[in-house]
Amino acid sequence: MHFTWERLTRSVYRCRLPFCDVTIGLIRGATGALLVDSGTTLAEAAAIAADVAELAQCQVTCIVLTHKHFDHVLGSSLFAGAEVYCAPDVIEYLSSATAQIRDDAVRHGANAAEIDRAIAALRRPQHAIYDAMIDLGDRSVTIAHLGRGHTGSDLVVIVPPADDEDGRVVVFTGDLVEESADPALDADSDVAAWPATLDRVLAAGGTDAIYVPGHGKVVDAEFVRRQRDWLSRKAGSAPG
Ligand SMILES: [Zn+2]
Repeated sequence: MHFTWERLTRSVYRCRLPFCDVTIGLIRGATGALLVDSGTTLAEAAAIAADVAELAQCQVTCIVLTHKHFDHVLGSSLFAGAEVYCAPDVIEYLSSATAQIRDDAVRHGANAAEIDRAIAALRRPQHAIYDAMIDLGDRSVTIAHLGRGHTGSDLVVIVPPADDEDGRVVVFTGDLVEESADPALDADSDVAAWPATLDRVLAAGGTDAIYVPGHGKVVDAEFVRRQRDWLSRKAGSAPG
């Protein structure tokens, strides 16, 4: 194993990549393996692919990119056999804003040569979606855009237990929730809309779900509520 994977339920795993502490999710289904986000470099992605082969006993068949930031998307090209799902404007960003993606990655400490390799390898994701269901044979995983927040088009991945499992629902929130730092706000964020988006995330997952932030430790619904309140206060104090 290259990374440390937490087993959240019998068939759902996550790891926190050492670089940027970004979450990678893995759902091991009867007919395939779904990855949530893909890391920053092809080297990271190759290590993830090797770990998945060991954990899931199969290749990655689908990838969901929760949003457009470099640490979530740039590893995706390594998974040549996988169908990639993301919001339409992530596809647009990957094709038109590679200079910005490169700047962001290098500013956060990524190796420039590795970023250039990942950008050169980028392939256009096959599925431009806001909402989708992915059938993994023993359950359907829901992908949903529940409103603006960290970016204009964040997606969450809602994973029910497999048909023969009693486990809990797992919700991968992308950067709509962060545990290891305050939520990251930038020019694309919509702080006014974000609290209501988190209300919809909580409604979709329910009180007992396991919530997996884009960065940081796994949290519960109460943590998500507190982050919603923090963002509400932030929105209330924002100028204009
Ligand atoms: Zn982000």
